[in-house]
Amino acid sequence: TQVPSMANTPDVTDLKRDNGNVAEQNEAIGEEDIDLSDANTTMVIHPGSNSLKIGFAKDESPFVIPCCVAIPKSELKGQVPVNEEKQRAYNRDQPTEFHEIKSEIQHSFRERMRFYKRKVQPNAHEQVVNYNKLSKPELIEDKNDYNRVNWITNPDRRYYGEDALKCSKEHFVVRYPVVKGGSFNISSPDYRSLQDLMGDFTGLLEHVLRSPKFQLKRSQFTQYKVVLVIPDLFEKSHVETLIRCLITEMQFQAVAIIQESLATCYGAGISSSTCVVNVGATQTRVACVDEGTVLQDSCITLDYGSDDITKLFALFLLQSEFPYQDWDIESTHGWYLAEELKKKFTTFQDASVTVQLYNFVKRIPGQQAEKFDFKVFDEVILAPLSLFYPDIVAQLRNELRPPSPNEKVKSELPISRDVFTDNLDDWRSLSQAECLDNQLYCGNQDEFQTLCRILDTPSRLDELQTEHRLEPDPRQNYAPLEKAIVQSITNACLSFDISKMSSFYSNILVCGGGSNIPSFDFILTDRINIWRPRLLSHTSFPDLYKKLSKQIKDIKNSVKNGEGKSSGPQEDEQLKEKVREVIRRELERYNEHIESPNNVDHLLPVSVLPPPKDLDPSMLIWKGASVLAQIKLVEELYLTGADWDMHGSRILQYKCIFTY
Ligand code: ADP
Repeated sequence: TQVPSMANTPDVTDLKRDNGNVAEQNEAIGEEDIDLSDANTTMVIHPGSNSLKIGFAKDESPFVIPCCVAIPKSELKGQVPVNEEKQRAYNRDQPTEFHEIKSEIQHSFRERMRFYKRKVQPNAHEQVVNYNKLSKPELIEDKNDYNRVNWITNPDRRYYGEDALKCSKEHFVVRYPVVKGGSFNISSPDYRSLQDLMGDFTGLLEHVLRSPKFQLKRSQFTQYKVVLVIPDLFEKSHVETLIRCLITEMQFQAVAIIQESLATCYGAGISSSTCVVNVGATQTRVACVDEGTVLQDSCITLDYGSDDITKLFALFLLQSEFPYQDWDIESTHGWYLAEELKKKFTTFQDASVTVQLYNFVKRIPGQQAEKFDFKVFDEVILAPLSLFYPDIVAQLRNELRPPSPNEKVKSELPISRDVFTDNLDDWRSLSQAECLDNQLYCGNQDEFQTLCRILDTPSRLDELQTEHRLEPDPRQNYAPLEKAIVQSITNACLSFDISKMSSFYSNILVCGGGSNIPSFDFILTDRINIWRPRLLSHTSFPDLYKKLSKQIKDIKNSVKNGEGKSSGPQEDEQLKEKVREVIRRELERYNEHIESPNNVDHLLPVSVLPPPKDLDPSMLIWKGASVLAQIKLVEELYLTGADWDMHGSRILQYKCIFTY
C-alpha cells in the first residue's frame, strides 16, 4: 500500500470560514448534507497527556495547548480532597538504592566516553560542586526581566492551557483530564465524577476553539468533522466515551479514528515496515507498523517519559549543590524552571558533556527575580540516560505514597468487557505481556533457550489471546527502551512476517516531544546494537527461523500421520526431545557459519530515523492524522451521529482501519 507522504499534502489554504449565520442554517442540516470528502471542514485532534494538539486538517501545523485546567480551590472545597499536605519526594536526599542506580548510569556514561575516546576530567564533579556552593544571586529589576512570567495568584475563575500552568498551586488545583497519551485521568483524586472530568476536557476544547485562531462558537461545531488520534494500545471504554462526547455532546458531524503509530508513519511519509518510538511526557510507546496496520503484538507502553527526565535532571542538579537548594520541583514555578532547564541543557552529545558554566533565573510569584550562575557536568546526560535505566524512575516513584485511586470515577468508566464472557476485551500485546513478566530477549545469554522460545511463539500468541482475564494488570512497565524496541520488532516479525526484520531495524522512527534531545538517534542506535542478542542480529536469522519452523512442523506432522497411534505423555516427551535436538543442531550450524572466516553474512543494520527536517517531533503524529484527513480513505472511516445513535459503539467494528 502506498502511504501518502507529506509532500502530497496540499498547500495550506486559508479557509474561508463563514462564521455568519451558517450556524443557524446548520441546525436544519440533515445527515445527507454531510460532505465527508471535504477536508476544509475537518478538524484534527490529538489529545496527549501533556498537550492537546488541534488544528484544521489543512493547517500546516497544529495549535498546541497544555492539556490542563486550573480550578480555584474554593470551587472544590468539600467536594474533593484538596491536598494541602505536601509530599516532597523530589528532594536531594534519596535512599542508597537510588544512588546505586545513579552510579550504574554514571558508569555507563564513562564507558561510552572511553569508547569514543573522549577525556573525562577526573575532578569535574568537584569543580561543579565547589562552584555551585559559592554561587551568589544577582537581583533583577522587573523591567529588566524580559522573560518575566505573570503568575496567576488570584483564584477568580478557571484557567486553561498555558494560563493554567501559571496558576499557583496555593490557590488552584491544576487538573490534567488526559493521561497516558489518550486515556482519561480516571485515577486522579481531583475529580468528583466522570462528568466533572469530561467537563474539563470539553471546557479545554471549547476554550481552544473559541480562541482567535479558530473563532468557533459551540453552535458551529456541527459544521465540522473530526479525525481523532488514539493510542495504539487504546482502551475501548475511553475511546467510546471520547467519541460519544464529540458526537452527541459537542455535536461534531462525524468522527474517524486513527492509531498514533500509523499516524506517525503517515506524517513522516514512510510506507515501508517501520518501528515507531514515541517519547511522550508520561509514557514512551513502541509499536511496529506494516502495510498500514499497527501490529498488535508489537505494541509496548512504557510507564516513563520525558517528565521523568525533567524530575531526575532537577534532582541531579540539587545533588550537585545547585545554588537554588529550596527548589520545590512540584510547585508551579519550580516545574516551569525544571522544564526550561531540561529543554535547554540535557543532551546525548558526548562532546557537550564537560564542565559548563550556565545561568538561570529564579522566579517566584511575588518575589523579585534572581539570576544565578551554575556549573554542570554529567547531569545533562545522566538524566536522559534514564530511558535506558528506568529502574531509577521506578525507585523514585517507590518513595512516593501511592495516590489513593478514585474509585468513584473508575466505576463510572469501567474497563471494556466482552458481553458474553465478561472477559476483558481490550487489545492484548505479547510484547507488553513479556515486558511485564521480565521475559526479554535482550540480556538472556542462553541462545538455545531464546531460540526455543522464539519458535514457540505461535502457541504463546494463542495462549495470550484466549486467556480468560477478568482484572486488568496493575503492574507498571519499566523495561529499558532499547530492550523494548528489540522485543517489539522481534515479536512483530514472529507474529507477522519474519522477513521484515531487516526493514523494521532500518526504519526506527522516533517522535514525541521527549525525543528532542540532541543525538538521541545516535545513542539509541548504539544501545540497540549493544543489547540486541547476537542470535537476532544476523541477516541469516530469518532463514534459520524459516528452516527450523518447517522442520518442526514436519516432525509434528509425521507423528500425527504415524499410523494413527494415540500420543501419550511418553510420545509427547519424545517428540519434544526430537524438536530440541533439531533446534540444537541447527543453532550449532548457524553459529559455525557466523564464526567461519568466509562468512558473508552480516549484521542487520540498525538505523534510527529522526523526524523530517523542520518538523517538531511532537507534531509528527498530528501531521499524519491531517494527511489521513485529506485522502479518500477517510470517507469510509467516518462515523456520524446517526450511525452512533443507531448502532452505538458496535459501529466501530466496521469503521476502523484496524480490528476494533
Ligand atoms: P504527549 O504526547 O505525552 O503530550 P509530547 O509528545 O507532546 O507528549 O511531548 C511532551 C514532552 O516533551 C514534555 O515532557 C516536554 O518536556 C518534552 N519536550 C518538549 N520539547 C523538548 C526539548 N526541546 N527537549 C527535551 N524535551 C522536550
